[in-house]
Amino acid sequence: MSAPTAERTAALPLRLAARPPGWDLSADVCVVGSGVAGLCVALHARAAGLTVAVVTKVRVDDGSTRWAQGGIAAVLDPADTPEAHARDTEVAGVGLCEPQAVRALVTEGPGRLRQLIDWGAGFDRDASGRLLLTREGGHSADRIVHAGGDATGAEVQRALVSAIHADPGITLVEHAMVLDLLTDATGRAAGVTLHVLGEGTEDGVGAVRARAVVLATGGMGQVYAATTNPAVSTGDGVALGLRAGAVATDLEFVQFHPTALYLGPGARGQQPLVSEALRGEGAILRDGEGTAFMAGVHPLADLAPRDVVAKAITRVQLRDAVPHVWLDARGVQGLTGRFPTIVARCRAEGIDPVTDLIPVTPAAHYASGGLVTDLSGRTTVPGLYACGEVACTGVHGANRLASNSLLEGLVFAARIGQSLAGALPPTAPAVPPEPSPSGLLDPASRDVLTTAMSTAVGALRSGAGLAAAGNRLDGLACALGDTRPAPDSWEATDLLTVARALTAAATAREETRGCHWREDHPETEETWRMHLDVRLDEDGGLRLTARPVGDPVVPAW
Ligand SMILES: Cc1cc2nc3c(=O)[nH]c(=O)nc-3n(C[C@H](O)[C@H](O)[C@H](O)COP(=O)(O)OP(=O)(O)OC[C@H]3O[C@@H](n4cnc5c(N)ncnc54)[C@H](O)[C@@H]3O)c2cc1C
Repeated sequence: MSAPTAERTAALPLRLAARPPGWDLSADVCVVGSGVAGLCVALHARAAGLTVAVVTKVRVDDGSTRWAQGGIAAVLDPADTPEAHARDTEVAGVGLCEPQAVRALVTEGPGRLRQLIDWGAGFDRDASGRLLLTREGGHSADRIVHAGGDATGAEVQRALVSAIHADPGITLVEHAMVLDLLTDATGRAAGVTLHVLGEGTEDGVGAVRARAVVLATGGMGQVYAATTNPAVSTGDGVALGLRAGAVATDLEFVQFHPTALYLGPGARGQQPLVSEALRGEGAILRDGEGTAFMAGVHPLADLAPRDVVAKAITRVQLRDAVPHVWLDARGVQGLTGRFPTIVARCRAEGIDPVTDLIPVTPAAHYASGGLVTDLSGRTTVPGLYACGEVACTGVHGANRLASNSLLEGLVFAARIGQSLAGALPPTAPAVPPEPSPSGLLDPASRDVLTTAMSTAVGALRSGAGLAAAGNRLDGLACALGDTRPAPDSWEATDLLTVARALTAAATAREETRGCHWREDHPETEETWRMHLDVRLDEDGGLRLTARPVGDPVVPAW
């Protein structure tokens, strides 16, 4: 292994170009994002007696959370054990899971799920009132709770939104894109700058002043041309964190969901998901000849871990030069009742899964990496926390086990709540932000960026392809200009920052592990059982450092 310490990349912005804040709002805690992570943090902070401002980019329910289909993994069956859940999680994570974080996840998860039920979430139950548990890929026991059949996330989001609406101590600001961190004279987080949309003016930049900031901005799937993530998942939290000096880790581990509904060659952005729970109930992947190709690939066949299935599908697509394979759900009992959302979505595209094969292809789905945190959700920047998909707590390692992400949001939101309940410093005045010397990315370049990412930094990677993608992204970074500061150019610039960091990490990791698959380095190397930490240095260049599993990176605040 040649552990890299620096990557020569074109300079990325250290601040988004924007007008100075013209108005402000104060709260003890500023939570950025309103998915499972953000809303749970808000409720826990309120339980600690703190006032909270939740700021969210579009509407309150526009993140990934409401799209979650499969469910939430938790050990509830007496025949199941936290040890078995931890083992399954660590097998999926291929040596890069942080054992203490996994332990917290599997032991605290059931209690946090019960708390979610107390907050009003209703899950599917049998006639005697017991929670129904199903199984998903990579799990050795039935431990997935679900709601409305395949509408788990919608129910979680509904319950949490109603809980925060009921609390007058939470101020919700919708249509507000957070841009950058504000810090006090000691470098501690003191709030954020944000732009409120739909105000009819261009100078809607304001500030939320707070004693702590929690980033809960979700994933970054929109760096790819096709993703299961909604439009808001543009990696803003990771980009903001990097600009603020935070360390991000494991960014190269992007999980590709094997079965997004194939909508045709020009499909861009969010693609409908066909949950693997369907395969859990017996659906089978077939190639164009009708062969069930997963049977010879892995002992769990169609229920193999996601990366194995995504790679097998990609191989078939390359072998047969076809843009998709088929999912055969015709033999699934009670298909329409158990999977109403999927069936309705397919029918809207003219495909009836009861009688037709479903065309499916892999799409970017989940960021296993993110801003590195300790067990209390603290990042490397004092006063700045990260929770949910934007964070890298260490539970997922090189690949996330299905249905562990909503659970991670529940568990680590509670841990952040406990940390916030401890001493928070008094509000300190923020240092006025310096005007940014860097320009912004022209939103018209977004297609170039996502095409480069999908072509060379997707489920199949090679050194040559990664170098080409890196050059393409550097070209975009060198061309940053006087594009008008606006939500589309801020989002495009965040996407560039995240795409460049992800590509640098994928280039540096010369091995295959979890969901990072290098055709030119097909083996998993023991010497690479390391996290790759990424930060922006003061010139805007990327700096990469390998760090052994178990070594803490977050200093005491
Ligand atoms: C289709 C699909 C199916 C899934 N199924 C499952 C499943 O069955 N089980 C499971 O465990 N996981 C599942 N996942 C993953 C899981 O849904 C997500 O990892 C999880 O919901 C992330 O929650 P979050 O709160 O971190 O982020 P999100 O729910 O994505 O919320 C992020 C929030 O941040 C806001 N935001 C982003 N940027 C900014 C900004 N600059 N300023 C202000 N606000 C901002 C967004 O608007 C949003 O409100 C699925 C994901 C998808 C896409």
